[in-house]
Amino acid sequence: MAVADEKWHKKLKDFLKRYYQDEVLELANNYPDKRSLVVNYDNLEIYDRAIASDLIEDPETVILALEMALKDTDLPLAKGFDNVHVRVVNIPNRIPIRELRSKHLSKFIAVEGMIRRATEVRPRITKAAFKCMRCDTITYVEQPGTKLDEPYSGCENENCGKRGPFKLMAEQSEFIDSQKGQIQESPESLKGGSNPESIEINFTDDMTGLVSPGDRVIINGILRSVQRPLREGKSTYYDLVLEANSIERLDKEFDELDITAEEEDQIIKLSKDPHIYDRIVSSIAPTIYGNDHVKKALMYQLFSGVVKTFPDGSRVRGDIHIILVGDPGVAKSQLLRYIIRLSPRGVFASGKSASASGLTAAAVRDELGDGRWTIEGGALVMADMGIAAVDEMDKMRDEDKSALHEAMEQQTISIAKAGIIATLKSRCSLLGAANPVYGRFNRFESLADQIDMPPALLSRFDLIFVLLDIPESRMDSKIAGHILQTHYAGELIQQKNNISASHITQEMIDAQLITINPDIAPDLLRKYIAYARRNIYPVMDEDARSHLIDFYTSLRKQGEGKNTPVPVTARQLEALVRLAEASARVRLSNRVTMDDAIRTTDITMECLKNVGID
Ligand code: ADP
Ligand code: MG
Repeated sequence: MAVADEKWHKKLKDFLKRYYQDEVLELANNYPDKRSLVVNYDNLEIYDRAIASDLIEDPETVILALEMALKDTDLPLAKGFDNVHVRVVNIPNRIPIRELRSKHLSKFIAVEGMIRRATEVRPRITKAAFKCMRCDTITYVEQPGTKLDEPYSGCENENCGKRGPFKLMAEQSEFIDSQKGQIQESPESLKGGSNPESIEINFTDDMTGLVSPGDRVIINGILRSVQRPLREGKSTYYDLVLEANSIERLDKEFDELDITAEEEDQIIKLSKDPHIYDRIVSSIAPTIYGNDHVKKALMYQLFSGVVKTFPDGSRVRGDIHIILVGDPGVAKSQLLRYIIRLSPRGVFASGKSASASGLTAAAVRDELGDGRWTIEGGALVMADMGIAAVDEMDKMRDEDKSALHEAMEQQTISIAKAGIIATLKSRCSLLGAANPVYGRFNRFESLADQIDMPPALLSRFDLIFVLLDIPESRMDSKIAGHILQTHYAGELIQQKNNISASHITQEMIDAQLITINPDIAPDLLRKYIAYARRNIYPVMDEDARSHLIDFYTSLRKQGEGKNTPVPVTARQLEALVRLAEASARVRLSNRVTMDDAIRTTDITMECLKNVGID
């Protein structure tokens, strides 16, 4: 071991000198404000494959060796590096959070995801100084765990050796900054709406205070197991904790959907089809009959308007917020779920969510652990740069209701509680659904009252749809036919799969599926949307602009003096602009034309008619 150490030491010193001379010098100039050297795994691998693979298998030893080599640098340093760290990035051993197993313990791994929670940064004692109350001798005890270890073998003074009493001497003890966090699988990595899994992370020293809920990161570190805390006694179950060595930030703007050159060709070809609008609408929730105007609005929401940031730092959202209000059983929940499947980055939540953070965010106290305050991001934080679908908004908690004002307009969520002040980002489109509080919708009562939502909050939605369940025989039999055909196709598939019924052919199934199979496959449509959001930033034509202004001023005039359910304000004008931009994005156009403006005013009229401003 000692021989190997010696050999490594020389090699690693040579490695740092060859690859990181400038960085080490810079570190020396800024020490101790800066005390981490960032090493790229690729460089280590090129330099010496064996050491690189040892780093993965036995990271504790190799990182220690790297830090020893750094401390022993040949460069002339003003002050010694007593407390430097080597942080390794670009670790190839990337493990999905849900696949972490005991075989990964003590290995160097990388996990990718979103920060869900982060505690306050607090000092943690690493080496405790205990003063013997009988002979005044100080005994030092290393503190690896969360519970303070005392000098169990007694006083260090051979002539004393008593088992206490001891007094903990804070000034002579050593502390390190520490922070706990939780990383969760990001929405786009979840298949078929499964629940995200998460893992705890420990950050220490200069890695603390760098992340907040909603951040997309890769954490490189050593996987450890810790005994699950119990109120009494010790558990036989262990939890996984990742001891962070380094943090890499991911570009938050874009989802990680890979679009191949072939798919890009397909997307561009689709965008030139004059029927592209109808084709996309018919590909949204094909099992849901009708509701084409709602689906059209959802299409615009998926493509989204353009976010604008101005030189003075102000910002206007591009996200389109939509709420579906209406009777039970009109497929609101189904539409929400479908949109999350189509969205490149979508989060589904319910207004009556049981988690502490709810829809927005919360500061909660970790009761079982060390009692630290933790900030936890809710659905709108985790949906940052995507769509948050929130069902049953009528059952929302009051805290969420008040936080939503800020979340929808400024697209941030502020927390000020127990001395914690934090601002989290929530740059997402909100797709809400609400049932009337009194069972069925009543056209003569106020909309806001019926879904128990303040009018000010309601007015932050760009589009409000009221979906009524009115018995109407022609429509009813069409919906019924559609639903039963969907079920029939499903029955055929089940029978064929489960009792291998040979008389059921694929052609029979396909014939039934024809009306419910989407024209554009969901995977391709999701990529189409991602492509448009990444690459298309349309600018509005002059005539389109005046069309929107005319429409807005006439709306204002109509609304004058009337007790309208939702007041017509400048917000509606901004909504019109966003919708028109989204409409241009649908056909991948960098120009917002008169046609886009007309599509926008059409869909807005459709909404207003239902809400009752007609
Ligand atoms: P809500 O959330 O509005 O109460 P759901 O989304 O739970 O309603 O829908 C109830 C059921 O009715 C679902 O199974 C849905 O598929 C069906 N349904 C309602 N309207 C339609 C429709 N227009 N086309 C097809 N199915 C429908
Ligand atoms: Mg529902």
